[in-house]
Amino acid sequence: MRTKIVAGNWKMNKNLDETEALLSELSAKLPDTHAEVIVAPTFLNLVAAQTSLQSSAIKVAAQNMHFAESGAYTGEISADMLLNIEVDTVIIGHSERRSLFGETDDLLAKKTKTALDKGMTVIFCFGEELEDRKSGNHFAVVESQLKNALFDLDNSAWNNIVLAYEPVWAIGTGETASPEQAQEMHAFIRKTIAEAYSTSIAEEVSILYGGSVKPSNAVEIFSKPDVDGGLIGGASLKADDFTAIIKAI
Ligand code: PEP
Repeated sequence: MRTKIVAGNWKMNKNLDETEALLSELSAKLPDTHAEVIVAPTFLNLVAAQTSLQSSAIKVAAQNMHFAESGAYTGEISADMLLNIEVDTVIIGHSERRSLFGETDDLLAKKTKTALDKGMTVIFCFGEELEDRKSGNHFAVVESQLKNALFDLDNSAWNNIVLAYEPVWAIGTGETASPEQAQEMHAFIRKTIAEAYSTSIAEEVSILYGGSVKPSNAVEIFSKPDVDGGLIGGASLKADDFTAIIKAI
């Protein structure tokens, strides 16, 4: 059975006090769930988050990492640094990293490989821009993002990959892919992986949907058979909204 996951990407939000306050509210309100719940605060507050969540089922992830082991990479964070503070999950390829920081498929392939080689779990994000969808190119774009960054990996790497399909036009815009659009793309992603690897790998990988998921649309989106959960931005910053989304799964 695929793991159901609800992950919150906090982006560049919440200072230390706010991080601790939100995590204590979240821990108190966390509903009983079969899903894995993950939060990704800023690097600066990962240690505090780990401490706050010591006796909680909520896991902590990083929002990014560098591909190199160590060295002259000012401002960067390595896999070993994350593992040293017991953070073993990392988001790679978020559309904001791609569009605002110029991260390419090539770079994301390197980051993913390093993280997996280190035994980490990667939440790999990808998705088309609005123009791609309007021109009917969305399937080809998604296929090439997957192929360029992930399809050189060995079969075993897929045990530690979670995919997050995030159509760029739906991120932080209030616009959501319809549940049917999400299901159609997730099924396509699974088919693409089955062709490149195997049906069993395709059936086992969790594919999250991201893009303006909120309490009011989560039930419908999560009810689709190929949607295994969500990567949540804005709505993960409020305990009541995030817990409502967790309940929805
Ligand atoms: C995201 O940034 O990954 C995201 C899905 O954001 P939002 O939920 O705010 O659209």
